[in-house]
Order: sequence, then C-alpha cells, then structure tokens
Amino acid sequence: MSGSQSRVLILMSRTGGGHLASARALAAEFERQRPGTAVEIVDVLIDHLIYPINRLPGSYDLLVNHAPWLWKLLWQRTSWPQLTRLLSRAVRVMSRPRIRRMLTAAAPDLVVSVHPLVNALVAPVLADVAPATPFATVVTDLGSIHPTWFDGATTALFVPTERAAAAAVKAGRPRATIHACGLPVRATFAEAPSDRAEARAAFGMVPNLPAVLVMGGGDGIGPVGDIVRALAGALGQGRALGQVVVVCGRNSKLKNELAADTWPAPVTVLGFVDQMAELMHASDLLVTKAGPGTIAEATICGLPILFSGFIPGQEEGNVDYVVDHGGGLFVKDPAVIARTVVALFGAERARLAAMAAKSRALGHPRATEEIVGTLCGLLAPSS
Ligand code: UDP
Repeated sequence: MSGSQSRVLILMSRTGGGHLASARALAAEFERQRPGTAVEIVDVLIDHLIYPINRLPGSYDLLVNHAPWLWKLLWQRTSWPQLTRLLSRAVRVMSRPRIRRMLTAAAPDLVVSVHPLVNALVAPVLADVAPATPFATVVTDLGSIHPTWFDGATTALFVPTERAAAAAVKAGRPRATIHACGLPVRATFAEAPSDRAEARAAFGMVPNLPAVLVMGGGDGIGPVGDIVRALAGALGQGRALGQVVVVCGRNSKLKNELAADTWPAPVTVLGFVDQMAELMHASDLLVTKAGPGTIAEATICGLPILFSGFIPGQEEGNVDYVVDHGGGLFVKDPAVIARTVVALFGAERARLAAMAAKSRALGHPRATEEIVGTLCGLLAPSS
C-alpha cells in the first residue's frame, strides 16, 4: 500500500478533554510526517458500544465534578484485575459485532488507542478481523497509570516515563515493545515561543506584571472561581504585584460569572483557548488541577505548577510526579494559593525561577514527533 493511501484509525473517548487532544495531536503529526495519510479519530465508547454502556462516558464529567468519591471508588474497582477482566469480558462479548463492523468499515493499516478502556475491547477483535494490522497504545496518563492501559496485545506501547515503562513490564508487556517518550501534545508546544509582549497583548493581558494562569482542564472544573477571587484580592493590595489570567475552557457559566466581576488586580477572563502554548509562554506560574495534558504542556513551557486539586484516582499520581521533582507544589486552599503566589512573585522570586527550571526538565517537547515517527515505521513504506 502506498504512503498516500495508508489509513490510521485513532481510538479514543470523550472522558475529559485530554484523550481527544492527544488524538488530534497525533493526527496533525501524521499529516506533517506522512502527508496524505488518512487519519480517522473515533470515539469507541460513545459511538460503538451497546446501550446503556455507551452512555457511561457522558457521566464522567458529572461524576468527577459532583461525586468525586464515587468516581474514585469506580477507578479503584477497575484497578482490580479480576473484576476488570470479568466486566470487560461481558462488555467485549456484547459489543463485539459493532466493533467488528467499525474495523471492517475503516479497514485501517494501523490502529492506535489513546484510551485505557479501548484496548481490551478492540485488540482481540482486530486480531480476529485483521491479524496483520498493528495495534499500538499511547498512554495519556502521567503518574497514575490505570492497569487497563496495559490490556490487549499491542505491537507498540508508548508510555510517558521510565517508571511507567517498568510498570508495563511488571504487567507483562514485553520490554522491546515499550517506548518511554512523554505524552503526545500539540506541535505548537515544541516551537520557539512567539514574542511575549505581543502574545500578552493578543490575549488582552497587562504587559509588565508577572502573570498567574489559572485552569481547570478542558471543562474548567474545580474551584477555579474561588481561586481567581483569592488571587485577585491578594495581588491587588496596594500597587498590583501581579495579574491573573483564567481559562474557563468549555465552562461558559464560569466565564460569564467571572467576566461580570470587577477586580482589585488585573484579571483576564478567557473561554476555550486554542493557543494554549502562546498563553503558557506568556505566563509565569500555573495554578491547575492535575490533568496530564495540562502538566505535559506546562512542563514543556517551563511553567512552575501549583496544584489546587486532582480528580481522585487517575490524577493523584500526577501531583507527585511534578512535586517530587521540584517543578511545583500542592496547595489546595485558595487563600494559601494566593499567599504562595504573592510570595513567589515577590520575595521568593529566585525560588520561582528554580521551580521553572525543574518543571522544564520534566518536559518532552519531541514526544509527539517520536511517537508518530515510530508509528510510521509500523506502516508500509511511502511510495
Ligand atoms: N485546553 C485547551 N483550551 C482550553 C482549556 C484546555 O486547549 O481552553 C486543553 C489543555 O491545553 C489540555 C487539555 O485541554 O491539552 C486538558 O487536558 P487535561 O489532561 O489537563 O485535563 P482534562 O480536561 O482531560 O481533565
């Protein structure tokens, strides 16, 4: 098959924003490295499972926002290999005809999973329908890698760290198939930053004050509003010590609320931002929940991170990953976050610079390029 005709199927599900963002980053890199490759991104859990299982991913945001304890319980339960095997076997058997139809219609030359629950569902069906087609998994979690990521017989398994590679070996994956590359993020994060003053002006930020960027993932979840209020109050005492830029993502309620407020310090309220690399480069410090995508991107930009929280289960280990390496701190209380930022923008500026260097040391700017380079090696050579 010629390179221009190669078909790549990327399988994900819209639980949070990270899996889709990773899938898109890989698709864009395929286009850069092997132009003409037909890349299709498919939501397996929502679009190809039977009812009512296909409704479960839609409950993810509701659960992590309103019943994190229940989500943690589910996450831990699915960490039990026996139960996972039993459940996934039942779902697999019921969903097999649909997945078979999806694979037959797509007729891919390569299948790539960027979601942990996809592997066990798809790998056995692919082995049946098209045994010669390679199946690769790209892990998009950082510190807490759920065991289901290592399900399914994969031709290649991409993990973010050497520690994750060791966990994969322990779970029975052959070492020769494991590649520790970092997380796939958009190519713009690997590019040289644009002019800071211009970027700040484009976002409507103040040119000269240090900037703290506040985020809550793609959906703007967690106590983002409380944190912004505490920060604006602390930074705005007397002459402003800094500015706040807040990304509300798809949370339009939060955006409208914050945009209607008046602030004692400069606060820039943004909705969903496409140019995250530019915004991170225009900022000096990040306050966020411990989303793996956001962390991978911030470390590439050398942004120190204050973690205000994490989704129980899959994000807990991400905090340690950064904090243990000196690239950030875990500070939950908005008032303490505000005091910490004031200190880091003032008397403790040298500490902020040291944290920035340590954060940058954790970044993998070439991860997407390396992953797709190896994946292209699994396809027949371009003509
Ligand atoms: N993101 C973005 N624009 C926004 C908010 C978030 O592009 O306005 C991206 C962010 O850069 C990251 C992803 O959404 O790539 C969030 O992924 P993460 O794993 O941090 O959290 P999730 O949303 O999956 O909980």
